[in-house]
Formats: sequence, C-alpha cells, structure tokens
Amino acid sequence: MARYNKMPPEILEKRAQEALARLASCKICPRRCQANRLEDERGYCRTGRRAKVASYTPHFGEEPPLVGHSGSGTIFFSGCNLSCLFCQNWDISQEDLGREVSPEELARMMLVLQDGGCHNINLVTPTHVVPQILEALVLAREEGLSVPLVYNSGGYDSAEALRLLDGIIDIYMPDAKYGSDGPAQKYSAAPGYTTVMKAALKEMHRQVGDLEMDDEGIALQGLL
Ligand code: SF4
Repeated sequence: MARYNKMPPEILEKRAQEALARLASCKICPRRCQANRLEDERGYCRTGRRAKVASYTPHFGEEPPLVGHSGSGTIFFSGCNLSCLFCQNWDISQEDLGREVSPEELARMMLVLQDGGCHNINLVTPTHVVPQILEALVLAREEGLSVPLVYNSGGYDSAEALRLLDGIIDIYMPDAKYGSDGPAQKYSAAPGYTTVMKAALKEMHRQVGDLEMDDEGIALQGLL
C-alpha cells in the first residue's frame, strides 16, 4: 500500500484544492513568478492550468530499485523550472513537446501504467505541476491506484510546496546537480540553487527517510 492510500480521502482532496489555489499567483517553485496559472498565464516553466505530458511508458533505464523486473511507470511532464544546457530531454523540457491533459487523462495514465505491471508511478520533472498531479491523484486513487509514487525532480524544489506532498509521495529521487551556485547559474539559470536544493533534500528526507526496499530489491519508500 502506498502512502497516499493511508491518507484519508478528504485530506488528500483538501491538499489538492490547496495546491490548485496556489496557482492563482504561482509560487509553486523557487522562481515565484506569481503568474495566474488558473487563468492560463505562464511563468518560467511555460505551463498553465493544465499539465502537459510528453509520454507515459514503462521505463527500464531508471535506477534498478525502481525498475525491478516490470519497469518504472514513467510519466514525462513537458516544460521545466530549470533550463539546463546539458538536458538530455531538451525537446520535452525546453521545447515543450507533449500535449495538455485533463486531470482525468492524467489519472488514467497512472492507472494504465499500474495495470501494465509497473512497480511505481515515476513523475519525471514534476516540480511545476505539483497541483495538477494531486488533482489527478485524487481520481486515480478512487479508481484503485496503489503503487508507490516517485517524485523525480531536478532538485530545484520549494520546501513549502513539498510540504503539500507530505504523506503522499513514497519515493523522492531528486538530482543534486550542483555544489556551488556559480555553475548552477551558468548552466541551469537557477539562482540560489544550492541553498534551495539542500532545503528540499532535508524536507524530502524528513518525510520519507532512508530508502527501504522489499526482498527483491524493489524500492518501497525513501529518499533515493
Ligand atoms: S511553477 Fe512555473 S510559474 Fe510557478 S513559480 Fe515555478 S516556474 Fe514560475
């Protein structure tokens, strides 16, 4: 059972509503653009009211504890709150390849991946679409979603937004891309990256602790 299954449904729904309300003046990530995304205004991540998805598929190239024998159920979100010059998914993160999805469609993608045997739902580049993920999760859970949720980010996450995910995300897998701010600014245009990333990692670890795996070495919960 995933952590979000243990949360009372009304609390999960309340969290989703709280997160969605924050889109009115978006400070979901450290950029704090204050765009009114409820009116489809765009900030740095170029994502409006709806999440945009480039692909959803079982992925066998992730870290082994996520892949197991049946793959990690990866959902690639378009757009990003970073602009890394070395991004391996440039067409998705910077050219916004993908299509906008309704909460129902996003929930359906999660369920299709679970039904296909994936060990988890791996949310790739989720930072700028936390509210939309929660909105879809309410629906997916009602329909029986129960595999662990993986938050797979670039580490430029606001601890304040992460607190909305407390008791919901099972596995955090952030990149810690830089140890000093100069290169972070030069290569990812991310002011204050190291301070933000360290606070994010602390909050993630506070929520889920160290990585726990089952007897087959498949990740159940923790910081990876
Ligand atoms: S999530 Fe997007 S719009 Fe919101 S603060 Fe971050 S970059 Fe700006």
